[in-house]
Amino acid sequence: MAGRKHRVTVIGSGNWGTTVAKLVAENTREHSDLFEEEVQMWVYEENVVIPSDSPHYDPAVGDAPQKLTSVINKYHENVKYLPKITLPTNVVANPSLVDAVKDSSILIFNLPHEFIGNICKQIKGHILPFARGISCIKGVTVTDDKVELICEYIGETLGIYCGALSGANIANEIANELWCETTIAYNTPPCDRRSSNGADGPDVEKHRDSSGRVSKTKLTPVPDDYPPVDHEEIRKLFQRPYFSVSMVPDVVGVSLAGALKNIVALACGFTEGNGWNATAKTAVMRRGMVETIRFAQEFFPESIQLMTFWESAGWSDMIVSCTSARNWRYSKMAAERGVSLHEIERTELNGQKLQGISTTKEVMSFLRARGVESQYPLFKAVEGIIDGTFKVEDVPKLLSD
Ligand code: NAD
Ligand code: 13P
Repeated sequence: MAGRKHRVTVIGSGNWGTTVAKLVAENTREHSDLFEEEVQMWVYEENVVIPSDSPHYDPAVGDAPQKLTSVINKYHENVKYLPKITLPTNVVANPSLVDAVKDSSILIFNLPHEFIGNICKQIKGHILPFARGISCIKGVTVTDDKVELICEYIGETLGIYCGALSGANIANEIANELWCETTIAYNTPPCDRRSSNGADGPDVEKHRDSSGRVSKTKLTPVPDDYPPVDHEEIRKLFQRPYFSVSMVPDVVGVSLAGALKNIVALACGFTEGNGWNATAKTAVMRRGMVETIRFAQEFFPESIQLMTFWESAGWSDMIVSCTSARNWRYSKMAAERGVSLHEIERTELNGQKLQGISTTKEVMSFLRARGVESQYPLFKAVEGIIDGTFKVEDVPKLLSD
């Protein structure tokens, strides 16, 4: 019988991390029979200066730098990564990663993908053995000439089950409670299925990387005195009137669509910034989806389900990312100004990250190591534009060679 409640931690507090902490904290309040109300939000600590025109400006503090965590906890606003959005008071910013995760049975990973390796290293051995994860990260982990899904990397490294959330989700819109959809891939591990009357399957979770290697993680079941972590509960944690959740089984499709669309969004921005219009853009999007599906079928052939590309995590995310997301917006700006994307990220993003830059580099190095980069001409063109070896004007030729 359930007597305990799940404690939730969001690991990451950028634009999307803070937005997800907000919506999850609204739900832990609403479903206080299942969840502890307080939501921990781990913050990569930094100093911020509150400008004098801000309502949070304190003349006694003036221009002195303040800790971001203290500012969030005092004003219930992430002034740097999600300004002008009031967070529920049950979101508690915590600068200590280990302290933020140590008692939580649900961990939501939400930070730029390049930091996940270091995060897992730091929390390994400090989390509850029966914790369950959801990764909201859009990217892949490339190591030793193989590609791993971030959620599987997390699951394998920490010895837990971890699902994936991805969709056509612009953080600022969701933070302002404008309706959208998302997709969550979560396959309740057999050992957590309570309705099976003791006929639960083995408590192991299989992870598969692009090389076909299958590894197994021995899972610790969620204890019976906690509410079950299944589709129903995951939905209750994320679904809001302005955030519709669709649950699917395909972790591979959800993860790869979310990661690779960032490369395509850069391509769209570059071409639009070069003066081309809707017809070029739709050609780039179509090519990008073809390469995304090719990648999924080539490297994860046994798991991919093509219908996933019709979910929010698939075509919807491709469209929104190529029309209004940061990777598109700032690559367009780079092409218009004739400066490098790295320069734009440094000067214009105030600490936010363009996931497409590192994903392009990592995916291309993986494809090159396998000798198949010529089958991915759009991805290759984006890599060349980022590193300055190709010009945006070359795109039509690069795609027709
Ligand atoms: P962001 O780009 O807004 O912010 C960057 C974050 O990285 C900040 O919280 C910063 O403190 C943190 N950081 C900087 N250095 C770090 C380090 N060394 N270690 C750990 N953290 C460090 O982040 P975001 O938008 O929340 O993105 C998180 C993930 O969510 C990404 O994979 C992104 O693709 C995905 N996503 C973003 C959106 C969106 O609209 N912003 C929507 C859907 C998915
Ligand atoms: P950006 O990181 O490019 O803003 O993408 C946000 C997103 O993933 C939209 O679904």
